[in-house]
Amino acid sequence: MPVSTEFDVVILNGRVIDPETNFDGIRNVGVKDGSISIITEKDIQGTKTIDATGKIVSPGFIDLHMHGQNIGAYRLQATQGVTTALELESGVLPINDFYEAQASKNIPIHYGAAAAWTFGRIATFTGKEVEATAEYFQGAQGESNWKEELANPEQLEKILNEVETGLKQGALGIGVNAGYAPGSGHLEYYSLAKLAKKYNVGTFTHVRFMKGVERDNAFEAFQELIANAAATGVNMHICHINSSSQKDIHNTLELYESAKANGISVTAGAYPWGAASTVVKAAMFTGPTWKADMETTEEAFQLGKKRLTKAEFDDLQANQPGTIIVWHFLDAAKPAELALMDASILHPETIIESDAMPIYQSKDGSIGVYTGVEWPLPADVINHPRSGATFTKILQDYVRERKLMPLQTAIKKMSLMPAQTMEDAVPQMKKKGRLQVGMDADILVFDLKEIKVNATYVDPCRASEGMSHVLVMGSPVVENGVLLLDTPPALPIRNAVTE
Ligand SMILES: [Zn+2]
Repeated sequence: MPVSTEFDVVILNGRVIDPETNFDGIRNVGVKDGSISIITEKDIQGTKTIDATGKIVSPGFIDLHMHGQNIGAYRLQATQGVTTALELESGVLPINDFYEAQASKNIPIHYGAAAAWTFGRIATFTGKEVEATAEYFQGAQGESNWKEELANPEQLEKILNEVETGLKQGALGIGVNAGYAPGSGHLEYYSLAKLAKKYNVGTFTHVRFMKGVERDNAFEAFQELIANAAATGVNMHICHINSSSQKDIHNTLELYESAKANGISVTAGAYPWGAASTVVKAAMFTGPTWKADMETTEEAFQLGKKRLTKAEFDDLQANQPGTIIVWHFLDAAKPAELALMDASILHPETIIESDAMPIYQSKDGSIGVYTGVEWPLPADVINHPRSGATFTKILQDYVRERKLMPLQTAIKKMSLMPAQTMEDAVPQMKKKGRLQVGMDADILVFDLKEIKVNATYVDPCRASEGMSHVLVMGSPVVENGVLLLDTPPALPIRNAVTE
């Protein structure tokens, strides 16, 4: 006899993995009103039945690092099992405008954002009122004052006010894209950490310097972050420790580990790709010694499907400085360089994050953000394969093919650890990243053998395969391996609005 027929969804006979309790066993899962109501060996029945025989049942993945804010970018995330995707490293402003815009887009997975320090800095130095779009940041890349200059006391006050307004509007933390404004002051960074403390939120930093060798290197920048975390008690998240560290990853990981061992509240994310993606005239690609510093050349840059020549690179920097490029900083085909990437991914204290980019499309000679609703995405879009294949790449390469990471560890790094990073600051996250009774029913059902990365550097927006079901608050977003196109909008992740 079934114990209940009350459930909205039942997931039967799957291998249930919970990264918090380390539970790993065959169970039936019942979902009611968006929550996990029961996990049992007994028979249960519901309105909808998912047969998970031979499959993994895990909490949905949580991405702390997502820049694309249109529906196509969120759909790519859903196909790789991400049920919550947050824009934290850059953040946006104004926060009210961001949540209002997202609410109108019918986004299938949970979304949210931090308050963007760079936006406050751009507004202060250039006089352009903040606007909650990727284009606002890209459009400021031709100007150098906000990147290079120290703020005077009045400017610092204005920058902090912009960020604080975002926090009052429910931002999830402060995005500190310091590598894009490396000339900003140490007092300014410390002041941001103090502001985060006042609102009991964390910071998410792309560190000030991004190269492997001293001086002004990533190691020094991580020391600055750790000092601010120690001085304020705020959790300061290091974004993409892999790409920021370049080839110095062993030293930076040791520094990070040591800081944590000594009780300092820091966390770090990493993505499994040997290429970064950003604006072509980012601060790290300027100055007289940038190529030697970054151990790179113009030919390591890619736009769309093609590598650039030096002349094309120079032309873009001069005339379209906000253009999004892909920059190959490691060659994963070389074992020694792959080992550097592996070190960041396999470290027990790193969280997997994608750094998913907005989707771009070339139209009438210029490149703009793709805002369309076409699915599958058009073949000519510009992106980085990390946007839709980071989490599946971990499952496919690190767990199944190369057997470098146990499945349970991978799930923990992609669900529980990001939830724990956020939950002191963002109460909604306490119910995510776990597969337990009472938790939100953000649930994945997949067969590890079927997980497939399709995106490549030349065809970056081909969706991942292998998630047979992705549920967001109990509602299917992927069903029998097919992305559903008219799902109810997912809930925003947002702190209380105090103004
Ligand atoms: Zn970054």
